[in-house]
Amino acid sequence: MVQINEHFLKLQAGYLFPEIARRVAEFSEAHPDADVIRLGIGDVTEPLPPAVVEAMHAAVDDMARRDTFHGYGPEQGYAFLRDPVAAQDYQARGIDVSADEVFISDGAKCDTGNILDIFGPGNRIAITDPVYPVYVDTNVMAGHTGPATASGRYDGLLYLPVTEENDFVPELPNEPVDLIYLCYPNNPTGAVASREALQKWVDYARDTGALILFDAAYEAFITDDAIPRSIFELDGARSTAIEFRSFSKNAGFTGTRCAFTVVPRDLTVRAGTEDVSLHQMWLRRQSTKFNGVSYVVQKGAAAVYTDAGRQQTQALVNFYLENARLLCDGLRKLGMTVYGGENAPYVWLKTPDGLNSWEFFDLLLSRGHLVGTPGSGFGASGEGYFRLSAFNSRDNVEAAIDRFARAVS
Ligand SMILES: *Cc1c(COP(=O)(O)O)cnc(C)c1O
Repeated sequence: MVQINEHFLKLQAGYLFPEIARRVAEFSEAHPDADVIRLGIGDVTEPLPPAVVEAMHAAVDDMARRDTFHGYGPEQGYAFLRDPVAAQDYQARGIDVSADEVFISDGAKCDTGNILDIFGPGNRIAITDPVYPVYVDTNVMAGHTGPATASGRYDGLLYLPVTEENDFVPELPNEPVDLIYLCYPNNPTGAVASREALQKWVDYARDTGALILFDAAYEAFITDDAIPRSIFELDGARSTAIEFRSFSKNAGFTGTRCAFTVVPRDLTVRAGTEDVSLHQMWLRRQSTKFNGVSYVVQKGAAAVYTDAGRQQTQALVNFYLENARLLCDGLRKLGMTVYGGENAPYVWLKTPDGLNSWEFFDLLLSRGHLVGTPGSGFGASGEGYFRLSAFNSRDNVEAAIDRFARAVS
């Protein structure tokens, strides 16, 4: 008899995006002429930067010639990509990360899930609420939780609320935890964490022996120089944190796939009488289960670090940030309370008139023909909030602001 991984049965049917799709389909069927604008999904809309496209074309030509052809590459990534990542993303900012601590991958989503391979059962796991659902579901699949409760939370996870009361940065837990997921700039709230706030978490992890899994996928959207772009800017983080980054949101790689994870050499965990290196474990895991990102894609990612690539990537980020600024301004003029949107491509608004997240979703769809994401879909503490994504065309953003006025006034 085949045994399945029964932990999968605890997963709640992917509720959020299918339910959005269902309600939009129902509305569109009843109103076939309504042209619905979607500000819902966290996917980019603008094409790849020209420097990236050019580098990928050249790389395809390399693959077409015997003397420049590339077969299997190094599992951790080519030096032509790891070197500029370490030099430009870290060392140029005074952050101590070396190229051999950078592991190139096909996505931060994959890495945040796959990293659980190197951890055992029995860890106490803290996540923020609301949260990027991948952290939760991968722990459920790995058997690190109990069943889901009626509220949609899982037994065995510690949920740390992030709301306007704590500026969307969680308080330290009042019970012991081992693994802590933090994501700043944050999806879904668009919030950032100050140096002081992150230092408190790094100190906590150092003092208690916990490990921070830091998702910095939106680092490029930080405009405020006082906000840390990497967890490794904080004292002591090299022995308490792993960082995930991605080319998806800064350079439009959501469909091209390239990302990286930094696992410092200093990071060890006590196992019996031994200090075991998490860097060595992750290297072993990747070498065994992963054969690297394609040469063509890594060449494209490396072009992000050229002068032209840096400029073009910054222009893309600025374009989305301007969308976010327009959304925030437009909504504030309507008297709405909005958060995020300054150092992140997400705007997190408080639903007006005490509506719950789904009631506001229905109102916006029926009166404004606009689709966003109900905050409650990201966790119980997201109730009463609503996420708008700045990943869109300027035309759609401008039209959306007009339609908001129609929907909420
Ligand atoms: C978009 C996103 C990522 C990036 O995932 P990829 O697999 O690299 O595309 C990672 N974390 C969060 C929170 C995200 O929203």
